[in-house]
Amino acid sequence: MLEREVVYESVLDHDFLDEIYSLPGGHEIKKCIQCGTCSGSCPQGAVMDYAPRKIFSLIRAGFRDEVLESNTIWYCSSCYSCAVRCPKEIKITDVMYALKRIAIKEGKAKKGRKASALSKNFVRMVNKYGRNHETELMARYILSAEPFNALNFVPQGWRLFSNGRLPLMPHKIKNIEQLRKILKKIDELEEM
Ligand code: SF4
Ligand code: SF4
Repeated sequence: MLEREVVYESVLDHDFLDEIYSLPGGHEIKKCIQCGTCSGSCPQGAVMDYAPRKIFSLIRAGFRDEVLESNTIWYCSSCYSCAVRCPKEIKITDVMYALKRIAIKEGKAKKGRKASALSKNFVRMVNKYGRNHETELMARYILSAEPFNALNFVPQGWRLFSNGRLPLMPHKIKNIEQLRKILKKIDELEEM
């Protein structure tokens, strides 16, 4: 949360808005009229460090670290309530996704450490098999995000396994090379 009472101009990142503006879905942010409809519509607003309206205000003011290190982007559940109600048709949910990607890239996803570990490992599964392999995903997630909590997952894992929800062997899709090419191209476009 923003705790500093006085923030000097020199520590603000005035290029942050332009950076967000150039991302998919980010080009409409300058139209935000700070009406607060998004924050009022957000089911997660009460537990976020900053509700969506304030996130846009912080982006425009150049509070890069406060935005990227906030829990807001990780608590966003992609419900789109804000986006469908925004009078300026700003793609708020897409901006949240873009912020997540920047936070991961810059190593600022501390409050989203578990979510980003799950996301990275899920992408790895899709790259490897063309679809998810729940058992491997669960194992990789626990090892990377919650190694000291591993034993607590055993009862849940056993219940899932007993109900046939944790297959031992992965299933690879046909023509996986084509999917990999698409994913590689997406990565390249995001780097541009
Ligand atoms: S609803 Fe749209 S215009 Fe209103 S504060 Fe949120 S993003 Fe800005
Ligand atoms: S999409 Fe995210 S930011 Fe928008 S209302 Fe839903 S949880 Fe809140």
